[in-house]
Amino acid sequence: MNVVHELNKIFGRIYKTKLILIEDAFKIEELTNYTMEKLLTDARSHRAKRYIFQPSGIEVNFYTGREKEYLILPNVWYCSCMSQYPSNMMKRRVCYHLLVYMICDALGLIDNYNVEDEYFQLIMQELK
Ligand SMILES: [Zn+2]
Repeated sequence: MNVVHELNKIFGRIYKTKLILIEDAFKIEELTNYTMEKLLTDARSHRAKRYIFQPSGIEVNFYTGREKEYLILPNVWYCSCMSQYPSNMMKRRVCYHLLVYMICDALGLIDNYNVEDEYFQLIMQELK
């Protein structure tokens, strides 16, 4: 069973209905070993944000962690913490930041910011 495939189906359902069914909540916990309580607490605490650069329209997604910002590429299920902790990838664990981000995306809880293109370099440098 492919965990990401399963999760994509669940998040697709949440996105459409803006509801988390109890069986989907159990499934998320089973697939990821994280509790929904913790995931939802972080989902509501404005950690997922999206910069929309103007006028280019480029969108860059971030997760604000306790110590730093992580770059999120939701289409390929990538979080920049994975390059810092490659063992997570080896163990095929799904990154916690990505999960919270996906929940925020599905429920419409991402904070969007319009930013001038000239700040692109500056913002990307904060990731280091
Ligand atoms: Zn991460």
